[in-house]
Order: sequence, then C-alpha cells, then structure tokens
Amino acid sequence: MLVSRLTSFYKISIYDAKVELMNILLVGAGLSGAVIGRILATAGHKITIVESRSHIAGNCHTERCQQTGVMLHKYGPHIFHTDNQRVWDYVNSFAVFRPFRNQVKTTVGEAVYSLPINLHTINQFFGRTFRPDEARHFIENTQADLTITDPQSFEEQALRFVGPKLYEAFFKGYTEKQWGCAPTQLPAAILKRLPLRFNYDDNYFAHRFQGIPEAGYTAMVRAILDHPNIDVHLNTPFSKEQASRVDHMFWSGPLDGYFDEKLGRLGYRTLDFERFDADGDWQGCAVMNYGDPSVSFTRITEHKHFAPWETHEKTVCYREFSRACAPGDIPYYPIRLVQEKALLLEYEALAQAEEGVTFVGRLGTYRYLDMDVTIAEAMSHANVFLTEGATRRSG
Ligand SMILES: Cc1cc2nc3c(=O)[nH]c(=O)nc-3n(C[C@H](O)[C@H](O)[C@H](O)COP(=O)(O)OP(=O)(O)OC[C@H]3O[C@@H](n4cnc5c(N)ncnc54)[C@H](O)[C@@H]3O)c2cc1C
Repeated sequence: MLVSRLTSFYKISIYDAKVELMNILLVGAGLSGAVIGRILATAGHKITIVESRSHIAGNCHTERCQQTGVMLHKYGPHIFHTDNQRVWDYVNSFAVFRPFRNQVKTTVGEAVYSLPINLHTINQFFGRTFRPDEARHFIENTQADLTITDPQSFEEQALRFVGPKLYEAFFKGYTEKQWGCAPTQLPAAILKRLPLRFNYDDNYFAHRFQGIPEAGYTAMVRAILDHPNIDVHLNTPFSKEQASRVDHMFWSGPLDGYFDEKLGRLGYRTLDFERFDADGDWQGCAVMNYGDPSVSFTRITEHKHFAPWETHEKTVCYREFSRACAPGDIPYYPIRLVQEKALLLEYEALAQAEEGVTFVGRLGTYRYLDMDVTIAEAMSHANVFLTEGATRRSG
C-alpha cells in the first residue's frame, strides 16, 4: 500500500533554484517527523510517514478521556516552554496556546514543599523567615560543602550547591528512583539544570514563552501534517523494503534499532503509569513529586490541572514509576552514562556512513530533547536538506 506510489524524482523551480523533488520517507509521526515532513512537503517533495503506533504526535500525544472528559497526556505531562521566538511562532501558527505555569510540589515526609527549591522551600524546610540575601548567605555559609571545588558527580554537585540536608530531602531519593542508580554515578551536569532560587518564583521553567495547546498536542501535530503532499500510515512499523523505494529517509526511531542493535542496546529508562480516577480535585496541583525512597513511584500527575481553562467533575491521576527499559518497552529517557556514550560513538559512526538517511529527533540521536529543541532541530534538518541538497545536485 505504502510503497506502490513511490516513484523517482523530477524537477521544478522553487525560489529561483532548481530543486529535485523527491519521494521521501519519514519514520515516526512525532514532532520531528511532522515538522520535517511539513517543511519538505511545502517545498514540493512527496512525503510518506510510517508510524508504528496507532496515533500521531509521538510521546507528546494527548487524548481526551471518554469517561471523564479530561485531556490526558498519554506518555507523561508535556508543557511547552521556549525562548526561541521562531519556534514559538511556528507552533502558534498550528495551535491556540493557553498560558500554563508549571508549579511543581513535592511531598517529603509529612510536609509538602515547593519546587524548584526557592525561598519558600528554604524558609519552610529550615523553619526560618529569611529574606533573599539572608537565605543565600545561610545556604552558602552553613549548608553548602565548599570543600568540593570541582564537582564530578550529581551528588557532589548537589552537596556543593545546597548541602546534605536539602540534598537528602529533595534530590537523593527522587534521583535514585528516576535513574535507578546512585547519584554518585550520574554526571554533575544533570543538576546544573535545576537552579536554586533565592526568591519566591516557583515557575518550574525559566523560559519566556510557556503554554499548552488548548486542543492538545495531537491536534497541533495533525494540523502540521495536514498537507496534500503528506501521507501518514499508522500502525505501520518501518521495513527495509520501504526505504529501498524512496530517494531519502529521515529516521526518528531509535538509533540502535535502525541497525538491529547489532552493537548492543543503548540504555534507556522507561516509565509505567498507574491510572486512578477520583471525584473533584485529588491533589490540588498538576505535579506532586515523591522523593522519599519508601514511596515506589516518583510522582503523581493530575491531568485536568494541565488544562486549567477546562472544568470537569471527575479527575484522572497517574502514578509514575521509572525502571530500566527492556526489549519491547517504550524508551523514554536516554541514560548516557560512560558505557552508553562509548556505544553511542560507535552507532554515530555507523549512522554517519549510512547513505540517504538522516537520523533525527530524541530517539534517532539518543538525546533528551525538549519539544522546542526538537522542533528547532527538525526545522534545521529540513532547511539543510533543501538548501544543501539542491546546491549539491545542481552542481
Ligand atoms: C515523560 C516525558 C515528559 C516530557 N515532558 C516534556 C515537557 O514537559 N516539555 C517538553 O518540551 N518536552 C518534554 N518531553 C520531551 C518530548 O517528549 C520530546 O521533545 C518529543 O517527543 C520528541 O519528538 P520526536 O519526534 O523526536 O520523538 P517521539 O515523540 O518519540 O516520536 C518518534 C516516533 O517514532 C515512532 N517510531 C519509532 N520507531 C519506529 C519504527 N521502527 N517504525 C515506525 N515508527 C517508529 C514512535 O512510535 C514515535 O511515535 C518529555 C519527554 C518525556 C519522556
């Protein structure tokens, strides 16, 4: 069905340049596939997208629950946040975005605190009424471990910045559950992304533009894919035969999967979601973390709070568990420890040598990518393809 209509390329004139129009296969109908597909389709290329799942939008897929009416983020909650004006304009041209501010809470022992650690957290945790400068002085002079001058691990970085008490309460248990290893094994760089704030700002993200599409991400991706030159085939896993009939392929599936894992499997963490329904408002916020090691899940997300502009009598929550990704599981977070990085280099060399294939997106490049970065990279891949591809062929 898919491949019968794929033919070789022909030429038309676009923007004064002779562009060879191609039949292009995109593997994966997530954000990467959708954005690349749309840009190339607009330039006249014929795009076929194969998607192994029964829906588009990849991991940011949203679906309205038939029983409760709540919009569900099926693969974990997604909040769009960016400083990139171009990306923000792009997504807003395909969806109506509603402002959303992610205000995460965490339950530690018998208390609930505000994240990321801010002045409220510090004052509540230590039972104080510090002003900003006092709190900074307190943390730096009585908590932070200044003997650590060159932090190498996540743990050292945390101890250097916040000291053992805040580290034990807010980072250690959560990190162990999330990554399945001791924080001493994780790189310091992970914590550099979690700032300590000496004011009452509890907005989890620091970006200029933040929001959630009113009709969900899947509606947005559907609008991106809505172009006469794009054919999407759901429930269609990639097969090598499909690739043999096209002029170029963009691969947004797992990098090691493309090579049949012949060098070994790249390590991922996967997530299990345990749904429960309730009446009214179950936890009063969208995201409640649980850092205590005695609690087996990492957090509970209550999905109607991701659409505060909607009203629902019922509510849907998910307990989220993290574990090692086994064959057949959905890969969520690339682990990227020393062992994986060595294997990654080998796969990257194979990918580099593979002709006619561009590896893209979070799985195709084995990196954690936020949606805005995914879109920016997808735009860049498509534009490089259009400009350099046209230049090379006409020369
Ligand atoms: C739990 C979680 C929460 C997140 N929250 C946020 C957030 O709040 N904000 C944010 O900006 N980002 C968030 N992200 C990141 C976001 O999910 C990614 O940026 C985005 O999904 C990347 O899009 P993609 O197209 O590269 O990959 P994907 O969305 O994974 O799409 C790849 C697609 O390829 C398909 N595929 C794979 N292999 C094959 C094959 N062999 N044949 C056919 N199809 C195949 C898959 O089924 C999938 O649909 C989160 C990620 C996770 C894991």
